Amino acid sequence: MANTATRVRIAPSPTGEPHVGTAYIALFNYLFAKKHGGEFILRIEDTDATRSTPEFEQKVLDALKWCGLSWSEGPDIGGPYGPYRQSERKHLYGPYVEKIVENGHGFRCFCTPERLGEMRAAPRAAGKPPKYDGHCLGLKAEEVTERMAAGEPSVVRMKIPTEGTCKLLLKADGMPTYHMANVVDDHLMKITHVARGEEWLSSVPKHILIYQYLGLEPPVFMHLSLMRNADKSKLSKRKNPTSISYYGALGFLPEALMNFLGLFFIQIAEGEELQTIDQLVTNFDPENLNKAGAIFDLQKLDWLNGRWLQANISEMEFVSRVLA
Ligand code: GLU
Repeated sequence: MANTATRVRIAPSPTGEPHVGTAYIALFNYLFAKKHGGEFILRIEDTDATRSTPEFEQKVLDALKWCGLSWSEGPDIGGPYGPYRQSERKHLYGPYVEKIVENGHGFRCFCTPERLGEMRAAPRAAGKPPKYDGHCLGLKAEEVTERMAAGEPSVVRMKIPTEGTCKLLLKADGMPTYHMANVVDDHLMKITHVARGEEWLSSVPKHILIYQYLGLEPPVFMHLSLMRNADKSKLSKRKNPTSISYYGALGFLPEALMNFLGLFFIQIAEGEELQTIDQLVTNFDPENLNKAGAIFDLQKLDWLNGRWLQANISEMEFVSRVLA
């Protein structure tokens, strides 16, 4: 990595109200980029066409901007590795999927949804995870070519040797799955470090395998512990509201929210809690991250917000924001 400029990204899926967890991961990536003099990139991961909407995408962009974060490449501003929206990158994934097939690590599968449904019924009934039964694994190359030429719908599955299972790479509509698009885009966008939530940890072996099958070098992976409620349960809408806009509407200043989230990453002495984003960048040390769990403590956020209102925002500024 010595001579490579650091490039990190936030890769939200526009499938719901922008979550404070996205701001948390985005802030980490932003601080990491700034600390290394690198680039912070925004990529929209909308391979799930049924759940992604342009409205939610706009909300993600607005919410991150409200937080005070800015990116040097993204769907709104373009950049050298665009487009930055996966639905517009469909043509870029095909050759990578084909390479995996050519290398013998993937295969075309023509199984109909009905057949797959039947295949999955028995293991499901027995409480076991359904597994692809390898029906199309041994198809001859000529048969595959013929059936494709005849327009029969198919998907591409990747063979996973250690588990004896297969992973879907390309869906019947020609769109790659999250795993495939994520790996190809991180490669094409020259991402050097991937910092994301711990819920993606179980995807790492699959991602490494895809990199390996494509003969590509994987980026450095970092997985951040999820933000939790005080009782250590996962931050969820049932316990605490989770949307960024909710906190904005309640009168929390973006500076206070960023300050609150930033304190999860840095080590500070007592009395140094009030931090601007620039101060967070200065105090951010990837080699010496805060090891305490990220507890979403509303009282602390409230206290920080009060400090911000008193110390860093003039009356005029406050009035103009309230009126805005
Ligand atoms: N689209 C994924 C998400 O919404 C991105 C995961 C990643 O950063 O690799 O969290």
